Amino acid sequence: MCFVRNEQVYATLLSKNGRDQWSSHIMDYPGKPDGLTGLSEDKTLELLRAAIGDEAIPIELHAVNAWEAAIGMAASFRQGRVFLAGDAAHVQSSAGGLGMNTGIQDGHNLAWKTAAVLHEQFTPALLDTYEPERRAAARASLALSRHMHPTLDLAGSRWTLFVEPGDGRWQATAASLGIEPHVHDLNTLGDAVLVRPDGFVAWRGATRESLQDALRDLGLRPQWPYQLVRSTTASQCGSSGAG
Ligand SMILES: Cc1cc2nc3c(=O)[nH]c(=O)nc-3n(C[C@H](O)[C@H](O)[C@H](O)COP(=O)(O)OP(=O)(O)OC[C@H]3O[C@@H](n4cnc5c(N)ncnc54)[C@H](O)[C@@H]3O)c2cc1C
Repeated sequence: MCFVRNEQVYATLLSKNGRDQWSSHIMDYPGKPDGLTGLSEDKTLELLRAAIGDEAIPIELHAVNAWEAAIGMAASFRQGRVFLAGDAAHVQSSAGGLGMNTGIQDGHNLAWKTAAVLHEQFTPALLDTYEPERRAAARASLALSRHMHPTLDLAGSRWTLFVEPGDGRWQATAASLGIEPHVHDLNTLGDAVLVRPDGFVAWRGATRESLQDALRDLGLRPQWPYQLVRSTTASQCGSSGAG
């Protein structure tokens, strides 16, 4: 992406396919009116030629849209069986590249929960966690849209328990719950941290009992651990189901 600023225009030029398809954000030009204003085809071509700096290059316009940064959230992300995700639920500045990412996270959040409920691993109560979680995430994303933040993604696509190096207490518990214990050199301040399949922290604590309470509060079905157990220590998870 190129930013072009000269006496006639301030615009970006973005290659879409590395050959002959481009998009441009025309941000400023002399005489630009205040507020959201559409551009005529002639004015758009004039400004694009000024940005390119070559009158001879043929341009075929496909679409011209007026756009302005907006920040906002829907009053509700859910109405019965209908859930809002992506820009329908929240819009933000494009700075930081967080809009689409936040929307994809919404979809991921909803997808695994819906699958878990449809497969009867969790009760429908799990779906009640969608809105509060995504509203909090969207609020944070809107606030951060002016900054870039590195992402550390150590968790896989399963429930993952992070424990401090050398802390062997959790190995059997993790195995009994069908959770892969990832041991990383992380400063977890002595606690263990349970990360869900979508990368969010589901629980943090120091005892096995509080982990089991947290999973029960999420609507964990009693037989669920046994569906994933690969360890002979299944009975340690406290469920009455057979391994
Ligand atoms: C200039 C700009 C730069 C951006 N840069 C980034 C970036 O770098 N990184 C990033 O993560 N995000 C970026 N974003 C944000 C990102 O583009 C959006 O957050 C993302 O596209 C939202 O996806 P969505 O599927 O929720 O909505 P949309 O992409 O808006 O998709 C909604 C679709 O629904 C269709 N539709 C609407 N109404 C109807 C209807 N009644 N019936 C049928 N179809 C309908 C629309 O035509 C559209 O195709 C940028 C946005 C802008 C404007």
